[in-house]
Amino acid sequence: MPHSHLIKPLIGEQYPTIDYGKGVFLYDTDGHEYVDACSGAVTANLGHGMEEILQSIVNQGNKVAFVYRSQFSNQPAEELASFLNDKTGYPWTFFVNSGSEAVETAIKIAIQHWQEKGKPLKRKILSRWLSYHGITFGALSASGHPSRRERFDSFLGDWPTIEPPYCAHCPFGKTYPSCGLACASQLDTMITRIGAENIAAFMAEPIIGAAGGAITPPKGYYERIKEICEAHDILFISDEVMTGCGRTGTFLALEQWGVKADIVAVGKGLSAGYAPIAATLISEKVMEPIVQGSKVIMSGHTFSGNPMSATAALAVLKLIESEKIIEGVDQKGTYLKNLLEKCRTEFPFIQDIRGRGLMWGIEFDERGAGFTSFIVQNGVDNGILLYPASAGIDGRKGSAIMVAPPLNSTKRELEEMVKRLRRTFQMAADNWKVT
Ligand code: PMP
Repeated sequence: MPHSHLIKPLIGEQYPTIDYGKGVFLYDTDGHEYVDACSGAVTANLGHGMEEILQSIVNQGNKVAFVYRSQFSNQPAEELASFLNDKTGYPWTFFVNSGSEAVETAIKIAIQHWQEKGKPLKRKILSRWLSYHGITFGALSASGHPSRRERFDSFLGDWPTIEPPYCAHCPFGKTYPSCGLACASQLDTMITRIGAENIAAFMAEPIIGAAGGAITPPKGYYERIKEICEAHDILFISDEVMTGCGRTGTFLALEQWGVKADIVAVGKGLSAGYAPIAATLISEKVMEPIVQGSKVIMSGHTFSGNPMSATAALAVLKLIESEKIIEGVDQKGTYLKNLLEKCRTEFPFIQDIRGRGLMWGIEFDERGAGFTSFIVQNGVDNGILLYPASAGIDGRKGSAIMVAPPLNSTKRELEEMVKRLRRTFQMAADNWKVT
């Protein structure tokens, strides 16, 4: 391979080069096989090399590959927006190219909503510590993710955060349910302190992904959050970039708490990685003053609603529906969880296992982020891909990984993943040394 100038996450480091993928497996140019136990970045929800999806992209390319959103609409984008409306009940869709952009758009629409209603001071965005909403400046300003913020902290907005619903290490030192959901009530206190007249929206990931490793709030949490937002006339933005499109056993994860947000960001699983596309879904309530007012959302990207990407997403969602894939997620998830729980009994460094559907976080004891890197790297050497997540509130050194395989993984494939995971844990038990 000639010297490459492609910038890698760690410059100078060697990364395997992938040749091809089939189902839950990836193969590099040296012939090594990897089982994709985290769907890349919790993205490849249908695994790799799905013929139907690839064919639909080719067919669309033969018609037209690109049109500009300010000049034309296109059939796949229209059809995808209708499909999302039918599935989620959100009548308005704004297409973008990444989860970060879907979050940025959600924030801008929330601010615009209040401007159009004659309340321009309602512009602060509240969120939670231990969260990841994206790498762009607005989305990062809302993210409670220390390592991703560190270098840019002085450029980021001073956006208020509340504590996460982190039962394994309750920030209030309480226990559910006698805690009375103190973590949710903190939103009420924070809004009162800042003044609802200054706040546009509260934003949260239904299940905290990259910043926590599938931290899952208890029953009643989102019901209370929604109640507080409504009582103060504040919009609720759900960042379902990681949890959306079936990952947790329902199309949107918030459905499991019986709650509907005002604006939703989806990405990743929307096209399951077959093309870059993400979307902001908007309720009638939020759009109404915009439709009555300026009629324009001042945002958009050259590739917004790209026909090739929209076609890929449409093919993915149609397949998920026709194969009844979401219906199988709970059962497969429980099967996987039970296999992971067996590992917990063998390896005492596993401190907590939490999640929903096919999104599981495994938190380690306080060995620090280096331990996660060790597990992930040894996983690669053992032919299994795992998603590293940071965890641990300020100063606590916890670390976690996520196991989030493609939603169409078979039970045998899940067993193979856990077999390789167990081998990786055994290597850590034998070889990890605190440095
Ligand atoms: N929100 C959440 C919840 C995410 O998990 C991510 C990606 N990990 C993003 C936003 C950002 O998405 P992207 O990397 O596609 O910009």
